[in-house]
Amino acid sequence: MATNTTSVICRICSSSSLVESYYPDAHFNEKIFKYLKCRKCDSFNVFPSPNEEDFKKMYGEEDHYYLKDVKGQLQYDFNYPFAHHQGYQIQFLEQIKNDLKGKTLLDYACGSGFYMKYAETLGAKVVGVEFDKKFVTLLREKTDLDIYTFSEMKLKFAAEVFDFIHLGHILEHLPEPFELLEELRMFAHKDTVFIIDGPLERNSCLHRFYVDLGSRLKRKKYRDAVPQHLTLTTQKSQLLFFNRAGLKKEKYIVVEQYFPLPSKLEFSFGKMISFFIASFSILLSKIVPKYGNVFHYRGKINDL
Ligand SMILES: [Zn+2]
Repeated sequence: MATNTTSVICRICSSSSLVESYYPDAHFNEKIFKYLKCRKCDSFNVFPSPNEEDFKKMYGEEDHYYLKDVKGQLQYDFNYPFAHHQGYQIQFLEQIKNDLKGKTLLDYACGSGFYMKYAETLGAKVVGVEFDKKFVTLLREKTDLDIYTFSEMKLKFAAEVFDFIHLGHILEHLPEPFELLEELRMFAHKDTVFIIDGPLERNSCLHRFYVDLGSRLKRKKYRDAVPQHLTLTTQKSQLLFFNRAGLKKEKYIVVEQYFPLPSKLEFSFGKMISFFIASFSILLSKIVPKYGNVFHYRGKINDL
Protein backbone atom coordinates (compact mmCIF):
# COMPACT_ATOMS: atom_id res chain seq x y z
CA MET A 1 0.00 0.00 0.00
CA ALA A 2 1.58 3.28 -1.02
CA THR A 3 1.16 6.50 0.92
CA ASN A 4 0.87 9.63 -1.13
CA THR A 5 3.23 11.91 0.76
CA THR A 6 2.51 14.96 -1.37
CA SER A 7 -1.12 15.35 -0.31
CA VAL A 8 -0.45 15.54 3.40
CA ILE A 9 0.56 18.48 5.56
CA CYS A 10 2.23 18.73 8.96
CA ARG A 11 -0.38 19.00 11.72
CA ILE A 12 1.96 21.24 13.70
CA CYS A 13 3.30 23.79 11.20
CA SER A 14 1.20 23.12 8.05
CA SER A 15 4.27 22.55 5.92
CA SER A 16 3.80 20.10 3.07
CA SER A 17 7.44 19.10 3.17
CA LEU A 18 7.07 15.68 4.76
CA VAL A 19 9.46 12.82 4.15
CA GLU A 20 9.57 9.23 5.30
CA SER A 21 11.25 8.75 8.66
CA TYR A 22 13.22 5.79 9.96
CA TYR A 23 10.36 4.91 12.32
CA PRO A 24 8.85 1.55 11.43
CA ASP A 25 5.30 1.64 10.02
CA ALA A 26 2.43 0.75 12.32
CA HIS A 27 0.18 -2.05 11.03
CA PHE A 28 -3.29 -1.69 12.48
CA ASN A 29 -6.81 -2.59 11.39
CA GLU A 30 -5.38 -4.07 8.18
CA LYS A 31 -3.83 -0.75 7.20
CA ILE A 32 -0.35 0.69 7.03
CA PHE A 33 0.29 3.91 8.96
CA LYS A 34 3.51 5.77 8.17
CA TYR A 35 5.58 8.12 10.32
CA LEU A 36 6.49 11.11 8.17
CA LYS A 37 9.03 13.66 9.27
CA CYS A 38 8.35 17.34 8.75
CA ARG A 39 11.44 18.99 7.29
CA LYS A 40 10.41 22.37 8.59
CA CYS A 41 9.58 21.74 12.27
CA ASP A 42 11.02 18.24 12.86
CA SER A 43 7.71 16.84 14.13
CA PHE A 44 6.64 13.39 13.01
CA ASN A 45 3.13 12.92 11.62
CA VAL A 46 1.25 9.65 11.18
CA PHE A 47 -0.48 9.29 7.84
CA PRO A 48 -3.00 8.39 6.61
CA SER A 49 -5.16 9.82 9.40
CA PRO A 50 -7.22 7.07 11.01
CA ASN A 51 -10.87 7.07 9.90
CA GLU A 52 -13.92 6.70 12.11
CA GLU A 53 -13.77 2.92 12.09
CA ASP A 54 -10.08 2.94 13.07
CA PHE A 55 -10.85 5.33 15.93
CA LYS A 56 -13.64 3.09 17.20
CA LYS A 57 -11.19 0.21 17.36
CA MET A 58 -8.56 2.40 19.02
CA TYR A 59 -10.66 4.06 21.69
CA GLY A 60 -13.81 2.01 22.15
CA GLU A 61 -14.85 0.48 25.41
CA GLU A 62 -11.90 -1.91 25.21
CA ASP A 63 -9.54 0.96 25.84
CA HIS A 64 -11.13 1.55 29.24
CA TYR A 65 -12.28 -1.95 30.19
CA TYR A 66 -10.53 -1.68 33.57
CA LEU A 67 -13.32 0.61 34.76
CA LYS A 68 -15.87 -2.19 34.48
CA ASP A 69 -14.09 -4.16 37.17
CA VAL A 70 -14.15 -1.27 39.61
CA LYS A 71 -16.56 -2.14 42.38
CA GLY A 72 -18.73 0.73 43.55
CA GLN A 73 -17.40 4.23 43.00
CA LEU A 74 -14.03 4.91 41.43
CA GLN A 75 -11.55 6.05 44.11
CA TYR A 76 -8.72 8.42 43.36
CA ASP A 77 -5.52 8.53 45.32
CA PHE A 78 -3.13 11.15 44.17
CA ASN A 79 0.05 9.41 45.30
CA TYR A 80 1.79 9.03 41.98
CA PRO A 81 5.21 7.43 41.69
CA PHE A 82 8.25 9.56 40.82
CA ALA A 83 8.17 11.12 37.33
CA HIS A 84 4.65 9.91 36.53
CA HIS A 85 2.75 11.84 33.87
CA GLN A 86 -0.40 12.23 35.98
CA GLY A 87 1.68 13.34 38.94
CA TYR A 88 3.21 16.01 36.70
CA GLN A 89 -0.27 17.15 35.62
CA ILE A 90 -1.30 17.58 39.25
CA GLN A 91 1.94 19.40 40.10
CA PHE A 92 1.40 21.84 37.24
CA LEU A 93 -2.17 22.49 38.37
CA GLU A 94 -0.93 23.01 41.93
CA GLN A 95 1.11 25.98 40.69
CA ILE A 96 -2.14 27.92 40.22
CA LYS A 97 -4.15 26.32 43.01
CA ASN A 98 -5.08 29.66 44.54
CA ASP A 99 -6.73 30.77 41.29
CA LEU A 100 -9.18 27.87 41.05
CA LYS A 101 -11.55 28.53 43.90
CA GLY A 102 -15.06 29.15 42.62
CA LYS A 103 -13.87 29.04 38.99
CA THR A 104 -15.11 26.79 36.20
CA LEU A 105 -12.89 24.24 34.47
CA LEU A 106 -13.57 22.20 31.37
CA ASP A 107 -11.48 19.02 31.19
CA TYR A 108 -11.50 17.98 27.55
CA ALA A 109 -10.55 14.27 27.31
CA CYS A 110 -10.91 13.75 31.04
CA GLY A 111 -10.12 10.01 31.06
CA SER A 112 -10.74 8.50 34.49
CA GLY A 113 -11.66 11.92 35.91
CA PHE A 114 -8.68 12.14 38.31
CA TYR A 115 -7.79 15.65 37.11
CA MET A 116 -11.39 16.82 37.50
CA LYS A 117 -11.50 15.38 41.00
CA TYR A 118 -8.28 17.13 41.94
CA ALA A 119 -9.48 20.44 40.51
CA GLU A 120 -12.66 20.00 42.56
CA THR A 121 -10.65 19.60 45.74
CA LEU A 122 -9.03 22.94 44.86
CA GLY A 123 -12.48 24.51 44.72
CA ALA A 124 -13.21 24.51 40.98
CA LYS A 125 -16.54 23.65 39.36
CA VAL A 126 -15.65 21.05 36.79
CA VAL A 127 -17.14 19.59 33.60
CA GLY A 128 -15.53 16.74 31.69
CA VAL A 129 -15.66 15.54 28.10
CA GLU A 130 -14.80 12.12 26.70
CA PHE A 131 -14.86 10.69 23.18
CA ASP A 132 -16.72 7.41 23.50
CA LYS A 133 -20.40 7.33 24.49
CA LYS A 134 -20.10 4.01 26.32
CA PHE A 135 -17.08 5.21 28.24
CA VAL A 136 -19.00 8.33 29.27
CA THR A 137 -21.90 6.19 30.52
CA LEU A 138 -19.47 4.04 32.50
CA LEU A 139 -17.76 7.11 34.00
CA ARG A 140 -21.11 8.48 35.10
CA GLU A 141 -21.90 5.19 36.83
CA LYS A 142 -18.58 5.00 38.59
CA THR A 143 -18.11 8.63 39.59
CA ASP A 144 -20.16 11.60 40.75
CA LEU A 145 -18.48 13.80 38.12
CA ASP A 146 -20.23 15.83 35.42
CA ILE A 147 -19.05 14.11 32.22
CA TYR A 148 -20.40 14.28 28.65
CA THR A 149 -19.54 13.41 25.09
CA PHE A 150 -18.43 16.51 23.18
CA SER A 151 -21.69 16.73 21.23
CA GLU A 152 -23.74 16.48 24.45
CA MET A 153 -21.53 19.07 26.10
CA LYS A 154 -21.85 21.49 23.16
CA LEU A 155 -25.64 21.36 23.48
CA LYS A 156 -25.79 21.62 27.24
CA PHE A 157 -23.20 24.39 27.61
CA ALA A 158 -23.85 26.16 24.31
CA ALA A 159 -23.87 29.66 25.74
CA GLU A 160 -21.33 29.15 28.52
CA VAL A 161 -17.69 29.97 28.94
CA PHE A 162 -15.12 28.40 31.25
CA ASP A 163 -12.35 30.04 33.25
CA PHE A 164 -9.98 27.14 32.60
CA ILE A 165 -9.85 24.65 29.77
CA HIS A 166 -7.60 21.65 30.25
CA LEU A 167 -6.39 19.49 27.39
CA GLY A 168 -4.40 16.66 28.93
CA HIS A 169 -2.50 14.28 26.66
CA ILE A 170 -5.02 14.65 23.87
CA LEU A 171 -3.69 16.88 21.05
CA GLU A 172 -1.26 14.19 19.90
CA HIS A 173 -4.23 11.86 19.30
CA LEU A 174 -6.09 14.18 16.96
CA PRO A 175 -6.00 14.22 13.16
CA GLU A 176 -6.89 17.93 13.31
CA PRO A 177 -5.52 19.47 16.51
CA PHE A 178 -5.83 23.09 15.30
CA GLU A 179 -9.52 22.59 14.62
CA LEU A 180 -10.18 21.46 18.18
CA LEU A 181 -8.56 24.59 19.61
CA GLU A 182 -10.60 26.66 17.15
CA GLU A 183 -13.77 24.93 18.28
CA LEU A 184 -13.00 25.40 21.96
CA ARG A 185 -12.71 29.18 21.50
CA MET A 186 -16.48 29.42 21.81
CA PHE A 187 -16.17 28.23 25.41
CA ALA A 188 -13.50 30.78 26.29
CA HIS A 189 -13.60 34.37 27.49
CA LYS A 190 -10.68 36.76 27.24
CA ASP A 191 -9.07 35.53 30.47
CA THR A 192 -9.68 31.82 30.02
CA VAL A 193 -6.50 29.94 30.77
CA PHE A 194 -5.75 26.98 28.54
CA ILE A 195 -3.78 24.33 30.42
CA ILE A 196 -2.32 21.88 27.95
CA ASP A 197 0.04 18.96 28.43
CA GLY A 198 1.26 15.99 26.48
CA PRO A 199 4.25 14.01 25.31
CA LEU A 200 7.19 15.43 23.34
CA GLU A 201 8.16 12.31 21.48
CA ARG A 202 10.76 13.93 19.23
CA ASN A 203 12.41 16.11 21.82
CA SER A 204 16.03 15.83 22.88
CA CYS A 205 16.95 13.89 25.99
CA LEU A 206 19.09 10.87 26.76
CA HIS A 207 15.95 8.70 26.90
CA ARG A 208 14.98 9.71 23.33
CA PHE A 209 18.51 9.14 22.05
CA TYR A 210 18.57 5.64 23.55
CA VAL A 211 15.12 4.67 22.20
CA ASP A 212 15.98 6.06 18.75
CA LEU A 213 19.29 4.21 18.69
CA GLY A 214 17.47 0.97 19.49
CA SER A 215 14.97 1.66 16.75
CA ARG A 216 17.71 2.38 14.19
CA LEU A 217 19.68 -0.72 15.15
CA LYS A 218 16.68 -3.03 14.97
CA ARG A 219 15.68 -1.59 11.57
CA LYS A 220 12.25 -3.11 11.71
CA LYS A 221 10.13 -2.44 8.66
CA TYR A 222 6.93 -2.41 10.67
CA ARG A 223 5.36 -3.06 14.06
CA ASP A 224 1.90 -4.37 14.90
CA ALA A 225 0.96 -1.31 16.89
CA VAL A 226 -1.97 0.98 17.47
CA PRO A 227 -1.01 4.40 16.07
CA GLN A 228 -2.79 6.41 18.77
CA HIS A 229 -0.31 9.27 18.67
CA LEU A 230 -0.57 11.06 15.33
CA THR A 231 1.89 13.87 16.01
CA LEU A 232 5.26 13.52 17.71
CA THR A 233 6.66 16.91 18.62
CA THR A 234 9.74 18.66 19.98
CA GLN A 235 9.92 21.37 22.65
CA LYS A 236 10.22 23.93 19.85
CA SER A 237 7.58 22.59 17.46
CA GLN A 238 5.01 22.20 20.23
CA LEU A 239 5.45 25.85 21.19
CA LEU A 240 5.24 26.86 17.53
CA PHE A 241 1.91 25.02 17.37
CA PHE A 242 0.48 27.04 20.28
CA ASN A 243 1.68 30.31 18.75
CA ARG A 244 0.07 29.40 15.45
CA ALA A 245 -3.14 28.44 17.25
CA GLY A 246 -3.34 32.00 18.57
CA LEU A 247 -2.35 31.32 22.17
CA LYS A 248 -0.10 33.56 24.19
CA LYS A 249 2.28 31.72 26.47
CA GLU A 250 2.17 32.25 30.23
CA LYS A 251 4.20 29.23 31.23
CA TYR A 252 5.85 26.40 29.34
CA ILE A 253 7.93 23.70 30.96
CA VAL A 254 9.41 20.41 29.85
CA VAL A 255 9.69 17.48 32.25
CA GLU A 256 10.45 13.81 31.80
CA GLN A 257 8.60 10.57 32.46
CA TYR A 258 9.80 6.96 32.36
CA PHE A 259 7.32 5.86 29.72
CA PRO A 260 7.89 4.09 27.31
CA LEU A 261 10.95 2.78 29.22
CA PRO A 262 10.35 0.72 32.41
CA SER A 263 9.72 2.74 35.57
CA LYS A 264 10.92 0.07 37.98
CA LEU A 265 13.62 -2.57 38.26
CA GLU A 266 12.74 -5.82 36.55
CA PHE A 267 14.62 -9.11 36.33
CA SER A 268 15.80 -8.79 32.79
CA PHE A 269 19.18 -7.40 31.84
CA GLY A 270 17.81 -5.31 28.97
CA LYS A 271 15.04 -3.84 31.09
CA MET A 272 17.45 -3.11 33.91
CA ILE A 273 19.69 -1.13 31.56
CA SER A 274 16.63 0.70 30.20
CA PHE A 275 15.48 1.55 33.71
CA PHE A 276 18.88 2.98 34.66
CA ILE A 277 19.15 4.98 31.47
CA ALA A 278 15.62 6.38 31.93
CA SER A 279 16.40 7.29 35.57
CA PHE A 280 19.68 8.97 34.66
CA SER A 281 17.98 10.75 31.76
CA ILE A 282 15.32 12.18 34.10
CA LEU A 283 18.04 13.58 36.35
CA LEU A 284 19.98 14.99 33.39
CA SER A 285 16.83 16.66 32.08
CA LYS A 286 16.36 18.40 35.41
CA ILE A 287 19.65 20.16 34.71
CA VAL A 288 18.96 20.97 31.05
CA PRO A 289 15.53 22.66 30.91
CA LYS A 290 14.85 21.91 27.24
CA TYR A 291 15.47 18.20 27.67
CA GLY A 292 12.57 15.90 28.48
CA ASN A 293 9.63 14.06 26.95
CA VAL A 294 6.53 15.75 28.42
CA PHE A 295 5.42 19.39 28.20
CA HIS A 296 3.11 21.53 30.33
CA TYR A 297 1.75 24.76 28.92
CA ARG A 298 -0.47 27.57 30.13
CA GLY A 299 -1.70 30.33 27.85
CA LYS A 300 -4.55 32.60 26.89
CA ILE A 301 -6.10 33.36 23.53
CA ASN A 302 -4.30 36.33 22.03
CA ASP A 303 -7.08 38.18 20.29
CA LEU A 304 -10.11 37.72 22.55
ZN1 LIG B 1 5.94 20.73 10.69
